[in-house]
Amino acid sequence: MIPAEEDNKINTKSNESLPKPLPNSALLVIDMQYDFLPPNGSLAVKFGDKILKPLKQYIDENINNFEIIIFTQDYHPIDHISFACNHPNKKDFDPITYKFPDTETSLASNNNMATSNSIPKEAKISSLNMQSKTPLKDTKSFNSLLWPKHCVQNTKGCEIHSIFTDYFNTLDNKYNRIKVVKKGYLPDREYYSCFNDIWNDHKTEVSEYLQADGDKKIKNVYIVGLALDYCVYNSALSSSQLGYNTFIIKALTKGIDPNWELPKCDGITMI
Ligand SMILES: [Zn+2]
Repeated sequence: MIPAEEDNKINTKSNESLPKPLPNSALLVIDMQYDFLPPNGSLAVKFGDKILKPLKQYIDENINNFEIIIFTQDYHPIDHISFACNHPNKKDFDPITYKFPDTETSLASNNNMATSNSIPKEAKISSLNMQSKTPLKDTKSFNSLLWPKHCVQNTKGCEIHSIFTDYFNTLDNKYNRIKVVKKGYLPDREYYSCFNDIWNDHKTEVSEYLQADGDKKIKNVYIVGLALDYCVYNSALSSSQLGYNTFIIKALTKGIDPNWELPKCDGITMI
């Protein structure tokens, strides 16, 4: 599904060759927030700031070539389960084995959420739907790492970098095809994919947006942003599993582990 070399490349001022999107494509811009960016981010991805300008330029040049562009925003409550400070005797970057959240925990969390103004309306609806299908007991577990406190709701670190805000702060709906989707707002579960939590239990609005316009059906999903080895990769896995031709644009992403390589046979193409 990769187009011919000549059609596939454009030249940018920074002399990088970036792919021109195929027809029927979406762009997912993952977590370009201050807390993931040097120099001051609490969970800064090394050289993450180096992709800001090329990414802005790429979007500007292709804004009419994507059917939809979705910016994702990690959006945690202060008591989020992924923060080391919320676990006794644990340090940042310690390993953790998560257990599938039980219904009582989820219900308690959602009751708190329902009174919070900081949770998007769609999220409240989604979380209410979630309650009825969460099983009482589940033995699933998930190995991961604990993180420094990051992307806490209503903090500077949670904001998407100001280089992009013109896209979605306009009142005239000029950029109707650009959306922002929040993730990570349920305190009792970690999120890496922008489509769903690590249990594939609670879903964000990303999938709905990709399916929204039947006439311009999305077939291809291009993914950029931070961090390559966590949220970019897991978003690509979800995208591929949902049947989209999935591409990660290597020049527009950085990993927490600079030596990380894409595993083979995942149905994802690094371009
Ligand atoms: Zn997070």
